[in-house]
Amino acid sequence: MNPPDLPADRRTANGDRRTHAEVDGAGTHVVKAPPDPPPGPLPGLPAGRLECATWPEVAVAHPVLVVAVGSCEQHGPHLPLGTDSVIAAAVAERLVAGLEAADRPAVLAPIISIGASGEHAGFPGTLSFGSAVMEEMVVELVRSADHFAAVVIVNGHGGNTAALAAAGERLAAEGRRPVVIPCSFARGDAHAGRTETSVMLALAPDLVRIDLAEPGAVEGWPELRDRVLAGGVASVSPNGVLGDPTGATAAEGRSLLDDLVARSLATALAALNALVDPVDPVDPVDPVDPADPVDPPARLHG
Ligand SMILES: [Zn+2]
Repeated sequence: MNPPDLPADRRTANGDRRTHAEVDGAGTHVVKAPPDPPPGPLPGLPAGRLECATWPEVAVAHPVLVVAVGSCEQHGPHLPLGTDSVIAAAVAERLVAGLEAADRPAVLAPIISIGASGEHAGFPGTLSFGSAVMEEMVVELVRSADHFAAVVIVNGHGGNTAALAAAGERLAAEGRRPVVIPCSFARGDAHAGRTETSVMLALAPDLVRIDLAEPGAVEGWPELRDRVLAGGVASVSPNGVLGDPTGATAAEGRSLLDDLVARSLATALAALNALVDPVDPVDPVDPVDPADPVDPPARLHG
């Protein structure tokens, strides 16, 4: 049924809603009606996205806010710039579902899809806020989220780690304790290699140019670290890859992802339990301290 107040120029002669640009009898173009909203209810809480919820729903559910933080940076000639964001968003989405299943209402925040990627400067397409802005952004975001039960940050990019740790220290001094979950896979290479390529084949195969996958700098991260920090990724790997993506498979990606999600959920639940249990307060040196992530990446990932 048409809304009774639909303007006359958005109705046809018999009162139907116009769905296309039309020319009326006088040859005058009329403005087409805006598209109808998508059918069905919005996802909403408790398992949906924050953008789809209303403030009263948030107030009633008092959910945990899960924030995915990624990057927009080069990932070699074969993976998209948004690789870290795709991975962080997928882990965060599964974390929300896992928290829900554990009777912890949770909601997914809008993703932060640009991070601190200075080490990838020089590769076209890379965008970066830098660590100082990243730190400030996270501090302000968490400060603004006091009406949530807690904040869980899923970090898909190793270059964001320092900014998140610094933000965590400042927030902890204010009594705010965001839980930081690094997307640190159980095994793998540093950047755009077999690990990330496998995970992307599992999550978004249409975005992987697998025929362009080629090795980059294949030394281990301990050997590469100082050179990358001094001269950026471009100084050690002209194609931007740290590792060897050849041989990556979707099956391996699914396995890596399942393992990461299971560990992340266990870490998040332990941290959230500690946050809300008055007889077991979080110790400043507790491994879930956001300034000292439970599972710090052993190598730069992302
Ligand atoms: Zn990455």
